[in-house]
Amino acid sequence: MLIDLHVHTISSPCSQIDPKELIVVARKIGLDAVCVTEHEEMEGAEEAWRLGREAGFPVLRGVEVYTEFGDMLVFGLFRPAFSWQTPFEELWRMVREAGGIIIPAHPCRSDRGIHEKMGRESAEYLLRSVDALEVKNGGNAEEANLLAEEIASRYGLPGVGGSDAHFLMQLGRCLTVFERDIEDEEDLVREIRAGRCNAAYANEVEEVNLSRAWR
Ligand SMILES: [Zn+2]
Ligand SMILES: [Zn+2]
Repeated sequence: MLIDLHVHTISSPCSQIDPKELIVVARKIGLDAVCVTEHEEMEGAEEAWRLGREAGFPVLRGVEVYTEFGDMLVFGLFRPAFSWQTPFEELWRMVREAGGIIIPAHPCRSDRGIHEKMGRESAEYLLRSVDALEVKNGGNAEEANLLAEEIASRYGLPGVGGSDAHFLMQLGRCLTVFERDIEDEEDLVREIRAGRCNAAYANEVEEVNLSRAWR
C-alpha cells in the first residue's frame, strides 16, 4: 500500500492543490491513498475525504500542528482547529487521549540535527514522546532527510515519508510504503505504531510514476 502521508490542499492558503485534482492525479501516478494534513485545521482534510469517498479513492485525514518543537503531523485526533503554536505537551496529551500518533514533520529541514536545533534535553524529550519521524519529506534537501533517517534509527522510531506537496507536480515525490492494507485513520495509526512501514522516494518504487500525471 503506497501512501503520500503529507499533502496540503487549497484549504491551506500556502497550497495550490485542488482536492478533486489531487484524487485524480494521486490515482494516475500510482498511489493507493493520500493523507491531507493542513496547517492547524481539518476542514480541508474533511472535504478531501468526502471527495475521496465519492471517487472511491481513500483520503485519510490528518493535521500539521506547529509547536515549540516545530511542525508535528498528527493522525487519529479529530479537531476542527488548533491554536497557533500549540504547546507540545498539550498536543501530546490530546493525541494520547484520542489514541492517535504524533510525528515530527521535516525534523532536520535546516540541515541541523534535532539535538543541535533544540538542545539535548528537549530533543531527548521530543524523541521519546513521538511515535515516528518523517524521514523523507519532499520539501527537504536529501541531507536533511538522511539526518532524520539516522536519528530515527538511533531512537528506534518508525520512519515515514510524505511529499509535503503544495503543488500537484510535487505529489508523491516522497511516500510511505505499508506492508498491509489501510482503509482508514485507525488502520494508519496502528500500522505506523507497529512500524510496518518504510519511507521511500518516488523513483525507488516501481509502481509509482510521477510523469503519468501529465499524460
Ligand atoms: Zn511543515
Ligand atoms: Zn506541510
